Amino acid sequence: MATTDRDLSGLLNTIRACTVCVEHLPAGPRPIVQVGESAAIVIIGQAPGRRVHESGVPWQDPSGDRLRSWLDISAEQFYDPNVIAIVPMGFCYPGSAKSGDNPPRPECAPLWHEPLLEKLPANRLEVIIGTYAQQRYVPDRAATLTETVANWQQYLPRQVVLPHPSPRNNHWLKKNPWFEADTLPALRNRVQEILST
Ligand code: SF4
Repeated sequence: MATTDRDLSGLLNTIRACTVCVEHLPAGPRPIVQVGESAAIVIIGQAPGRRVHESGVPWQDPSGDRLRSWLDISAEQFYDPNVIAIVPMGFCYPGSAKSGDNPPRPECAPLWHEPLLEKLPANRLEVIIGTYAQQRYVPDRAATLTETVANWQQYLPRQVVLPHPSPRNNHWLKKNPWFEADTLPALRNRVQEILST
């Protein structure tokens, strides 16, 4: 059966048993994904880090704390799969190198994203985080991540493009004060608009 023909729970079970790139995953496969059919907001980020791989809970780390504050939503809302879908570019922790975590496995998004995303409402808000998600989902992106994020008005109301909320990006946030002053209030308004309907 084609993946697109499966119901959501069957599809999620198949994904949770996925071992397609096992030989490239130093900690082994543990797909971490959250999807409910009513989720009107989907977060498309990078890949779980080691801490999330160990807990099995997406964005349960300082990056997640900051992301929830950017969206201005509670942990309860964030972890309700019928409010927020979490579909990273790679579902399993890809291991790390000297400079940080390895890139998301390239096998993952082409294999699983389309059948998962088609289960969601067509008018969903896509929260695009980081370079890899931008490359797949923002075809009219600018030359750099910063320029694309700065063009946020071009993408709303369907998408919002964010830098990674990792503490590693504190310097970026300091250098780009317009992000907190202008982009985040617009993002929060859009999120509230969705949550109140
Ligand atoms: S990263 Fe994706 S493709 Fe690779 S094993 Fe995990 S779920 Fe499967």
